[in-house]
Amino acid sequence: MASITPPKYVRQVLTTLQARGHLACLVGGCVRDMIMGVHPHDWDVSTSALPEEVMEIFPHTLPVGLRHGTVTVMIQSRKVEVTTFRSESAYSDHRHPDAVQFVGDLTADLSRRDFTMNAIAIPPDGLIVDPFGGVQDIQNKIIRCVGEPERRFEEDALRMFRALRFSARLGFAIEEHSMAAISRCAPLAGDLSPERVRDEVEALLLTTRPERMDELIELGLLDSYLLQRLPPYSTLFRLNGVPRKSLFRWAMLGELLEEQGCIRASEDFLLRLRLDSRTIRCCSDCAAILRQAAPTQAVEWKQLLNRYGVETVTCAARCRDALLGGNSFGKLRSVLKSGECFSMKHLAVTGDDLLALGLQGRALGDMLQFLLNYVMTFPQNNRKELLLSLARDTEES
Ligand code: ATP
Ligand code: MG
Repeated sequence: MASITPPKYVRQVLTTLQARGHLACLVGGCVRDMIMGVHPHDWDVSTSALPEEVMEIFPHTLPVGLRHGTVTVMIQSRKVEVTTFRSESAYSDHRHPDAVQFVGDLTADLSRRDFTMNAIAIPPDGLIVDPFGGVQDIQNKIIRCVGEPERRFEEDALRMFRALRFSARLGFAIEEHSMAAISRCAPLAGDLSPERVRDEVEALLLTTRPERMDELIELGLLDSYLLQRLPPYSTLFRLNGVPRKSLFRWAMLGELLEEQGCIRASEDFLLRLRLDSRTIRCCSDCAAILRQAAPTQAVEWKQLLNRYGVETVTCAARCRDALLGGNSFGKLRSVLKSGECFSMKHLAVTGDDLLALGLQGRALGDMLQFLLNYVMTFPQNNRKELLLSLARDTEES
C-alpha cells in the first residue's frame, strides 16, 4: 500500500475509541484512496460504539446524522464522521432501508456497503480487513458490487449511478455482472428522488470524464427525465470542452441534450432535476445567448455583460467554443481585462448626479441607460464632467 497515513487528529479518534474498549477503524472512501495512493479529502471512522457512547467519549460532537448512527467529532478544529457499525434491513422503496440496526460486527457493516473497493476497513493496528477482495479489485481497477448485484441495486437504485460515477472518476471498469444488473435494474432509477439523481449526475459531470453521461443515458438511468435516449453518434463528448465547473457542465449538458432531441428545453430539464433557481436562470440565459450570433465587437460583449452578468456570459462563451470552436472566451476575457465600463456601477455618473441636474423618475432612468450605452461604445469617455455635459445637452435638445 502507498505510504499515506492518516493525520494525527484522525489517529487520535481511533485510539481514543479503542482505549475505551470499542472497535474502531477507517472505512469507505478514505481507505480506497489510501490504497490508491491518493490523499483522502475526508476521513470516515466506523465503530462498535453506539452514537450516545461516541458523544460521551468526545467533548465536542455534532449529532448531525444520528438517525443513521453518525456523529461528527470535532477534534483539533477538524471534523471526523464517526458511524456506528450497522446493517440494513429490507428496502421496500428501492432507496431507503426500512430500518437501520446497529451491530457490533465490522463484517456486517462492510457487507451493507456498495462496492468491494468501498468495503475495506483499516483498524488502528493497520492490518487491512477486506472480506470481499476490494484491494484486488482496486489493483485491477474494477468496480464490483458487494454481494448479488441485482439485489443490491433493487435495495438502492442510486448505487447504479454511483457505479458509473466512480467508474468515470477513477477510470475503473464496471465488472460484467454488475454492469448487466444495471441494464436490468435501470427502470428502478425512476423511483429515486430528483435531488439524489441530481447530486449523482453533478458528481459525474464534475469528473474528468463527463462524457460518460452518455452511458448513463444509454443504460436508461435518466429515462424519466428525457423524451428519448441519445442518437447513435452522440455529441456528449463535448462536455469535456468546458472547464470543470458545475454551472458550465450543466449548461453544456442542457445544450447538448436539447440539440439531440432528448429534452425540449434546458430549463424544464433542470427544473425537474431540482437544480437551484440561480443555476437554472444562468443556464437558460446561456441558451438564449447561444441562440444569437457570436459577438464580434467589444461593445456587443459589453451589452451582453450588462444584461446577463459576468458568470452567465463566461459560461456562454465557454459553451460556444466547446460547441462550435473559435475563441469567444479569449475575446470576452480581453474585454473584461480592459476594465472598460459595462454596468451602471462603473459609470462615472450616478443617479444622484442626474437628480442634481433636475432629472427624475423614468427620465432619469432613461438617461442613465443612454449614458451607459454611450460609454460602452466610447469607453474613453467615461468621465463625469463629460457625461454630465452630454446629459445636459441631450435634455435641452
Ligand atoms: P467520495 O470520495 O466520493 O466521498 P466515498 O466512497 O467516501 O467517496 P461516500 O458517498 O462519502 O463515498 O460514502 C462513504 C461510504 O459509504 C462509501 O465508501 C460506501 O462504503 C458507503 N456508501 C455510501 N453510499 C452508499 C450506498 N448508496 N449504498 C451502500 N453503501 C454506500
Ligand atoms: Mg466520502
